[in-house]
Amino acid sequence: MPARADPLRAAADRCVACGLCLPHCPTYSDSLNENESPRGRIALLRATAEGALQATAAVAAHVDRCLGCLACEAVCPSHVDYAAILKDGRALLAREGPTSWRTWLRNVLIRSVEVRGAVAVAYAVARLISRLPWPRASQWPLATVLRGLPARPRPSMVRTEDADQADVALFLGCTADLDRATLNAAIRVLQATGKRVHIPGDQGCCAALASHAGLADLACRQRLRNLRAFEGKAPALVSVTSGCAAELEDYDPAGFDRFPEVFDIHRYLVEKTDLDRLMLTPRRQTIAVHEPCSLRNALRGGRFVYELLARIPGARIIELPGNGICCGAAGDYFLREPGRADALAAAKATAVAESGADIVVSANIGCALHLSAALARAGRALPVLHPLLVLGQQLPASRGAW
Ligand code: SF4
Ligand code: SF4
Repeated sequence: MPARADPLRAAADRCVACGLCLPHCPTYSDSLNENESPRGRIALLRATAEGALQATAAVAAHVDRCLGCLACEAVCPSHVDYAAILKDGRALLAREGPTSWRTWLRNVLIRSVEVRGAVAVAYAVARLISRLPWPRASQWPLATVLRGLPARPRPSMVRTEDADQADVALFLGCTADLDRATLNAAIRVLQATGKRVHIPGDQGCCAALASHAGLADLACRQRLRNLRAFEGKAPALVSVTSGCAAELEDYDPAGFDRFPEVFDIHRYLVEKTDLDRLMLTPRRQTIAVHEPCSLRNALRGGRFVYELLARIPGARIIELPGNGICCGAAGDYFLREPGRADALAAAKATAVAESGADIVVSANIGCALHLSAALARAGRALPVLHPLLVLGQQLPASRGAW
């Protein structure tokens, strides 16, 4: 019997097959195929774990097409831990299923995140390809998404504190080099509330990409690296990117007694700081809030974004209609399933247009870039910014600083 069969079966056994999750699942709604539904995927993975079903390419494809959005988990009356089933199931299929050249290539790319500077090189290559005068190259999903990133040179990082004086340690993640403006804004907002921020040096990728690809060995190494890097550095650890925060919350800190409490930055600001210290300048705009699935379904923390933005004088904060449905970015999903990913993002672009918003905010860099690309394709080039960048821009004397 496969090594991870028992935890997977125990979690899957909670599913009573009621089907209440089905209408909330984007892949089921799109296909009306039971194997593309949460209930169907749970049944497939349980049967594979029990040895009743071979780990075939067909089973792997049904699981691969899951967005991991957890809309199913959020509505499940039996509290099925779908995230755990999916994580263990993907590890099981990675071990025992067939490997296509596409999967092999994806795994090589995910493993390359460990190589210093690899993300920056990949970013530069993708931007170069996106500028080639070949229509097919410029339509490559990664190129269309990365085109939305700010051009270089990168701003230098805001000055932070040593570990022994810190209230909060900041998680950078493997996309830190791509969006320093948001990280700097986050540091400035934290500092404006009186918090002293430290950035531990030897941190790395949160392990979400490796977990989602079923690369359990790599995910384990990446978690261990971060557990060591943050051990004893501050009472709290905050992540600006909701996808990373969801993964960090899932760490098992056994053996690391001084590992900080993990927070999504929006929750940390609302629950642990004195927001009355934030003196924000007015911004007379309508701001539509996109809630990444990691924030809404995994962290259940969407409301904190609204609470923070509501402090900007003059701003009108609205919920982007359809927030319960994934935008299609979903880690590397937009690369693996570009057709479905683009269709989901196109629906968001329509919702943005109908909302009358001046700007959109999203707390996950992958979602923000995917949404930006969809808005550009629809001819509506609205800014899609991180909520902390918007807050940071409203700090006095911050206009144009980033
Ligand atoms: S996952 Fe939950 S909601 Fe979906 S079929 Fe199973 S028990 Fe019902
Ligand atoms: S995680 Fe999302 S795509 Fe996957 S089964 Fe659940 S609702 Fe469907």
